[in-house]
Amino acid sequence: MTTCPEVDVVIIGAGVIGLACAASLAGRGASVVVLEREGQTCTGVTSRNSQVVHAGIYNPVGSLKSLLCVEGRHDLVERCQRWNVPYQKVGKLIVASEAADQSRLEELFERGRANGVEGLRCLEASQVQAMEPQLHAAAAIESPETGIVDAVAYARSFWTEAEQAGAVMALCSEVIRIEAHPHGYQVVARNSESEESGVLAAAVVNAAGLDADEMAAKLGIDVDDAGYRLHRCKGDYFSLAPGSPLQLAHLIYPLPEVAGLGIHATLDFDGRLRFGPDTEYVDRTHFNVDPAKAEVFSSAIARYLPEVEPSWLVPDYAGVRPKLAGPGEAFRDFVIQEESARGFPGFVNLIGIESPGLTAATAIARRVSQSLSYA
Ligand SMILES: Cc1cc2nc3c(=O)[nH]c(=O)nc-3n(C[C@H](O)[C@H](O)[C@H](O)COP(=O)(O)OP(=O)(O)OC[C@H]3O[C@@H](n4cnc5c(N)ncnc54)[C@H](O)[C@@H]3O)c2cc1C
Repeated sequence: MTTCPEVDVVIIGAGVIGLACAASLAGRGASVVVLEREGQTCTGVTSRNSQVVHAGIYNPVGSLKSLLCVEGRHDLVERCQRWNVPYQKVGKLIVASEAADQSRLEELFERGRANGVEGLRCLEASQVQAMEPQLHAAAAIESPETGIVDAVAYARSFWTEAEQAGAVMALCSEVIRIEAHPHGYQVVARNSESEESGVLAAAVVNAAGLDADEMAAKLGIDVDDAGYRLHRCKGDYFSLAPGSPLQLAHLIYPLPEVAGLGIHATLDFDGRLRFGPDTEYVDRTHFNVDPAKAEVFSSAIARYLPEVEPSWLVPDYAGVRPKLAGPGEAFRDFVIQEESARGFPGFVNLIGIESPGLTAATAIARRVSQSLSYA
């Protein structure tokens, strides 16, 4: 048995968060090994989302979700230029369909301003009409800083950077045990031939996305007691059938719901429209999109795009959110926790990294590096 740490940091999970942490830590001189269960990077939540660069409007003022979204967005814009990652600042409109919704819109506007989001404007119906003729709105908020990004290209840019700084990746390496050790942690992974191997690390970053609660449990943390239990909340997407007579220049969002942002309209880099995600708590991860949901989607979309027909909607893909809040429960923030207080120094749990995790990735990674004293 080795007694000295073989590496400074093991990172569990090669999604955008694990890879951003790898780049940050390796860039600050740490020796880093990333363990990823799948045969390639970014097959998890990172490849199944809206690819929206959020401005930072929605979450409570002072929450990590707000602070790190704004900070991460600034980094993202600069990084996409430097690393040639597809990014477009398309802007978005948040729509109040009825006059009765205007007070909620105003609250959101004030919250966005308090969160430090730049350039927000309140628009009257006529101004919205001039910008988006097919949209039905009593009023709207314009968020010019909202954009779209190629999420996987963005995530993989971190790996290029981490690798250049000496980080090592082990794919097909599913972490099955984590043992606290006098000099750190023995992290044991199983490969596709069911062979086990361990690496002794001074510190561990748990960036396992939907399985992050399971990793914390493997360390010996009581996840229910700690409030780390994750709920899987599926979101389906439908795309607009080719030839359907709808055209938008901005991302369009209704007023947010309790568990999600409402079925919104996003654009890809070719200007194609996609609608979603909805919210459905599920017991297991799966990505089937039920074509019968076209009716429900169509009536939600019709509140702001009255012309839409169910036959214009084609099932596309689905993603699953790692949510700390269960059905109907109140807001929960990101957990970014160095676990010294629970007797696990140098172990950092990243739990409940749902939206806006993609936008916030660099800022989350910076917090992780600081908590491990790689500042
Ligand atoms: C429907 C949906 C829409 C979203 N839209 C947006 C958006 O528009 N903008 C935005 O900013 N954010 C958005 N998000 C949030 C964003 O996608 C996530 O915050 C981000 O991708 C999380 O990345 P991650 O690295 O934590 O997780 P993942 O990408 O899931 O990475 C975790 C990795 O850990 C690996 N892993 C798990 N268990 C083990 C194990 N035992 N051993 C080894 N490896 C393991 C997995 O294989 C996976 O590769 C959205 C999320 C969803 C679900």
